[in-house]
Amino acid sequence: MSTRRDFLGRLSRLSLVAAGLPAMAPWLRPRWLADPFTVGVASGDPMPDGVVLWTRLAPDVAAGGGMPPANVEVRWEVAEDEGMRRIVRQGRATASPDFTHAVHVEVDGLRPARWYWYRFSSGGVESRVGRTRTAPEATRALDRMRFAFVSCQHYEQGYYAAYRHLAEEDLDFVAHLGDYIYESTVPGRARQHGSPPPRTLAEYRARYALYKTDADLQRAHAAFPWIGTWDDHEVENNYAGATPLTPRDGFLLQRAAAYRAFYEHQPLRRSSIPRGPDMLIYRALSYGTMARLHVLDGRQYRSDQACGDGSQAVPCGDWASPERTMLGARQERWLERGLGASRTRWNVLAQQTTMAPIVGNPGPPPKHPMDPWSGYPAARERLTGFIAARRVPNVVVLTGDIHASFASQIRTGYADDSAPVVATEFVGTSMSSGGNGSDQWGGAEALLSANPWVRYHSNRRGYVRCEVTAETWRSDYRLLPYVDRPDAPIATHATWVARSGHPGPEPG
Ligand code: FE
Ligand code: CA
Repeated sequence: MSTRRDFLGRLSRLSLVAAGLPAMAPWLRPRWLADPFTVGVASGDPMPDGVVLWTRLAPDVAAGGGMPPANVEVRWEVAEDEGMRRIVRQGRATASPDFTHAVHVEVDGLRPARWYWYRFSSGGVESRVGRTRTAPEATRALDRMRFAFVSCQHYEQGYYAAYRHLAEEDLDFVAHLGDYIYESTVPGRARQHGSPPPRTLAEYRARYALYKTDADLQRAHAAFPWIGTWDDHEVENNYAGATPLTPRDGFLLQRAAAYRAFYEHQPLRRSSIPRGPDMLIYRALSYGTMARLHVLDGRQYRSDQACGDGSQAVPCGDWASPERTMLGARQERWLERGLGASRTRWNVLAQQTTMAPIVGNPGPPPKHPMDPWSGYPAARERLTGFIAARRVPNVVVLTGDIHASFASQIRTGYADDSAPVVATEFVGTSMSSGGNGSDQWGGAEALLSANPWVRYHSNRRGYVRCEVTAETWRSDYRLLPYVDRPDAPIATHATWVARSGHPGPEPG
């Protein structure tokens, strides 16, 4: 294919000078020889008056996007109808090679709790039409809120059939709890990355582009606004702050590249533009008086795992040290302020790793995984102690990471049965990671006796659909029988609820 070379040939400095433009002004009328909108469109972080719109120009994904090193103008439109006739906002953005020709538009001036449709165009070529929805005003009482949460979409381990089903749901938004990409290759593949684990910016960009070519993922992005955070695999398995899994020099340079590529490929606000190896991703969003979502970052600021990265009998090493942190001191204070000041019915933590312990090896002695909150007991007890002391009502913890479904009690401690239940945890399974799975996670009997705070588990792939009213939080575990073929049907395997004023999951 000579697409890229032909494209580059059309962009000579002469043509820009001839058009009377300074060299770095956006190129207004590119002539596309291939569709530049190959990685889809997205919207995110809905507010009552606006939303972030996203796309990336990438006419040749396999060639690093196939764009010349020049700014290109992209037009965007927001309409009240799917046919894009009643345009309410429009404008121009610059797709810059500094951000691999990704575009982030922070649209404002919209009305609350409404559907909108949006589209990009460049050089006369239009993107697909995406749909998005603004949040209700913070003071508005709602009858219900509906959303789904997802995580862990290893491209090689399965197809995204669940995203195809998710796109057909009736939802206000989608929350993604991390592992949007995977750096590593696995055996038993349904499809292939076709490249080694990324370390450089170009390599991370290429990995995102590959994932984003998936039609079902594109469909789910085009159907709803997303609210996303990351976990470890956006950089490297089990990394902790500045510490990689295997110690080596230069890890922060790799983290900087990984964070930048994450920002470039997600519908995030300017406040998340990374500065070197640092990127602000924790934030709060309100959904009327129904819920406030605290979206957490359990990776960037955490202490290293206590006694290696695997599972350990505890106590071990500095496992219990109060110096150790999951969120970092600053994010902890921010979260406490937010939970303390919240006036919403439900207080949601959208976050990465399991908060109630999941002891997978009951022993004796039982072994606790060191990467999730069970490896950071002092940090967990600071948070649950705060919720108990301040009587923060109706805290619901949403979790990804573990590639299995659970419904668990969040207690102020797990040493014996006496600690009070202060919150409800719904753990969502993976989109594809782990492959087809099985009906039960671990040995079911041993699992439940080693983890009496766990009420439900399943080892199938899918997502969790939540329907929230003032009285009841309902979580439907929507699961697939397989992911090694793209045509899997979906069904609600179980429903667990949290009742307002009664922390802990109950059968729905
Ligand atoms: Fe994962
Ligand atoms: Ca470690």
